[in-house]
Parts: sequence; structure tokens; C-alpha cells
Amino acid sequence: MSNSKRETIDKTYDLIVVGSGAAGMMAAIVAARNGKSVLLLEKLSKIASKLKATGGGRCNLTNTLDNEIFMSHFGRDGRFMTPALNALNHKQLISFFKEIGVDTHAPDGHRVFPVTHNSSTIISAMLQEMQNLGVEVLCSQKVESLEHDGSKIKGVRTDNNTLFLASNVVLATGGKGYPTLGAEGDGYELSKAVGHKVTDVFPAMMPLKVKEKWVANCRADTIAKVAMHVDMKKYKKLQAKGDLIFTKDGIRGPVVLDFSREITPLLSKFDEVPLLANFTKGMNEEEIRLHFKKLLEKDPHQTVLELMKTLLPEALSLELCRSAEANPTLGLTKLSGQVRDKLISLLAWTPLTVNGHDGFKMAMITRGGISLKEIDPNTMQSKKLKGLYFCGEVMNLDGPCGGYNLQWSFSSGCLAGKLQ
Ligand SMILES: Cc1cc2nc3c(=O)[nH]c(=O)nc-3n(C[C@H](O)[C@H](O)[C@H](O)COP(=O)(O)OP(=O)(O)OC[C@H]3O[C@@H](n4cnc5c(N)ncnc54)[C@H](O)[C@@H]3O)c2cc1C
Repeated sequence: MSNSKRETIDKTYDLIVVGSGAAGMMAAIVAARNGKSVLLLEKLSKIASKLKATGGGRCNLTNTLDNEIFMSHFGRDGRFMTPALNALNHKQLISFFKEIGVDTHAPDGHRVFPVTHNSSTIISAMLQEMQNLGVEVLCSQKVESLEHDGSKIKGVRTDNNTLFLASNVVLATGGKGYPTLGAEGDGYELSKAVGHKVTDVFPAMMPLKVKEKWVANCRADTIAKVAMHVDMKKYKKLQAKGDLIFTKDGIRGPVVLDFSREITPLLSKFDEVPLLANFTKGMNEEEIRLHFKKLLEKDPHQTVLELMKTLLPEALSLELCRSAEANPTLGLTKLSGQVRDKLISLLAWTPLTVNGHDGFKMAMITRGGISLKEIDPNTMQSKKLKGLYFCGEVMNLDGPCGGYNLQWSFSSGCLAGKLQ
């Protein structure tokens, strides 16, 4: 805390919202629409920095899944979201944006974007709505403590030692990923200080580093529909599917972004996490053999490389040949049985060994957060401190890529903003 003189603002708000992300702005709007006086405090000099960066600046704000399927993508605790989704599901979110002047569409029938494909459209419309409703927005105000009397929230104190009073506070400070966009884990410390438990937190939705050096030679291609699973006895059930891109020292792309939220917690326990990846759109050894047999029936002179290129890009084909010690220029039948078997087995399941990542710096979301056990899912209110509410990524729930995390932020923000 700075040494500046203590100051108390001579006004008690119905609600102070801490954090101007998707969750916080939605909470502020809902409360203000219900006639509450609302102050929104944001520590950065601008509002909604992370929201601006979403979807590569295009903002994939939700998707078209019904609530049940949507929740199942959040894992074991997904059902915690039921009341929040009942308060604001994807259809209601789309209507909300329409009401405030933002048209949306789902070009692939699933992921929903503003038609402008520009996140600024969303932010300007929400800011305008907050202004219309009289929400006071103060930037460059970092909340450093929650003020309370032991049972009831009283307000917040900021880093310039100003006390803002309110009968309710919504904590919408986000997770810990991409800290330059504002969320640096402050909400965890603020909550712990008033008796809330915070789970271990892990960076998620990010590229991963692998031990295999050959990946650097395969950077040019996107491999579609890759299936991968963890190759550890206890964790074989952890699996993912989607497009993959190799990097100079690892893997990225949609399948990796989604899978990383399962892998980073394992990496905190083990130095390495072995994976098996299928790059042949799910073909098993039997199917691969049959595929090659058919091709050779048509043209018996095809080389190993020519055969493999019917399934994989050339660079990856060459690397798998190298791993199997197979000469790519020979015919398949010229390889020894052992080498041929090794090659087919590598085509069905290629081992990759994850051994690192870039931490929260590159994490689009955070796995873990404020324990759900101490939050009432029907209201988002703290079970520890009356008048304290939570919404968005600060809580221990995370979803995959594809509009899940923003919908959760908007829905929980909406429910929290009702101040029930
Ligand atoms: C690059 C990127 C792209 C993404 N793309 C998508 C996407 O397309 N679709 C999707 O569904 N999800 C996406 N996500 C995830 C999604 O953006 C987040 O899950 C969601 O924005 C979280 O919203 P929030 O309101 O909970 O937190 P945030 O948006 O992180 O907002 C928290 C706010 O609180 C402020 N704050 C923090 N501490 C304090 C404090 N002490 N005092 C005052 N203010 C404070 C922060 O500065 C910040 O503005 C993406 C994430 C990233 C990083």
C-alpha cells in the first residue's frame, strides 16, 4: 500500500464491481438495470483489456450448445453453472447483445462472434450501456483489500489508500493468464484474506513444449483431426481431438490449447508427460496396412514416402521414417518386417513427450481458482461473507476453446449482478 493519505469517498454504493472484464461489466449492467447504484473499479488504465484480445481480436463470445452439453465440457463441477446458465444462456446472451446494438452470427454454426468480427464492438456497446445506466467506471484503481465487519462486506480499499463503501461487492478479477491484460491472481489473495479457499492454479490453454527435436522440421503444416491421449497408466483417459501445429520446440493449435489444461497439472507432479498422438485421422494399424495394400495393388512401385504422403505431410512422413529407421525411398516390402511394423505402429500412435510450457505468460485461461464449495451457485454469493459475490474466471471452473469461458463469465456475471 502507498503512503498516501487515507481517503474515504463520501458515498455508499449498492454495489462495487472489482474488474472490468466480461464478468464484471455484465454484473454492473444487470445491477444497474435493477436500479442499483454501481461503481466499477479497474486497475488498468483501460477497461476490458482481455476481452479485447479474445478470439484473436474477433471475440468468440459464446457457442450454440444447449446448457447440458455446454456444462459437460467444464468437467466434474460443470453442473455448478446450472443457475448461472438459467439466468443467461447463449440465446439470452445473443439477445442481450442485440438489445445493446451488437449483431452476432455463427459462421460455422457453432461459435458465435459479433458480425463485425471485432471485440471492440462488444466493449463499446457494454461501455455505452453502463454509461446509459449511470454506472461509474474508474480505471487505474487497484483494489488491495476487501473491507468487512467479520460477517458483512463494507467496501474495498484501493492501492492509493482510498476507501470506497458499498453494501455489496462483486469480485470479477479474472484468473492469472496473460498478466499484461490485467488478471494477475489478485482475486485469489483478496479472497484468501476473507477466509476463502483457493485451489492450486495452473496455466492452461497454451502451447506445450516437447522433448522430440524432430518437431522443429515439421512446422509448416497443420495436421487436421489429431487424436491424442496421455500415455501414463493412471491418466490414459485424458484425451483430446483437433488440429495440431508443430512449433520449433513443441506443439500448438486447437487440440493442444484444449489438452493443455489436463497436462499442466500433471507437469507440476512429473517432469515429463508422455503422449501418444494419431496423425492419420484415427486410422489404426490394421487400417493403415490395408490402406497401403490397396495403394500398392494399384501401383506396386510406390515408395514408402509416397505411401505415407497419402496420409501425412511430407516433412512429418520423413521424420516418422527417421524414427523407425525406415528408408523412405524404398518400396514398403523392401523394408525388414521389424522396421515396417515399427513404422506402422508409429503411424498409428506417435509418441511425444511434453516437458514444459511458458507458464501463465502465454496461458489463455487458468485452471483452478476460488473453491466452489464456499460459493452459493444459486446467487454466486460467498458463503463466508455476506454481500460478497464472485463471477468469471476467478472461480475454479474452466472450459475448452470455443466461447465456453466467455459465456461462463457473462452468465456468472449476470447472476452475481442480481445481488440475490
Ligand atoms: C488471448 C486470449 C484469447 C481468448 N479468447 C477467448 C475466446 O475467443 N472465447 C472465450 O470464450 N474465451 C476466450 N479467452 C478466455 C476469456 O477471455 C476469459 O476466460 C474471460 O475473459 C474471463 O473474464 P473475466 O471477466 O472473468 O476476467 P478478465 O477479463 O480477466 O477481467 C478481469 C479484470 O479485473 C481487473 N483486475 C484484476 N485485479 C484487479 C484489482 N485488484 N483491482 C481492480 N481491477 C482488477 C483486470 O485488470 C481485468 O480487467 C481468451 C483469453 C485470452 C487471454
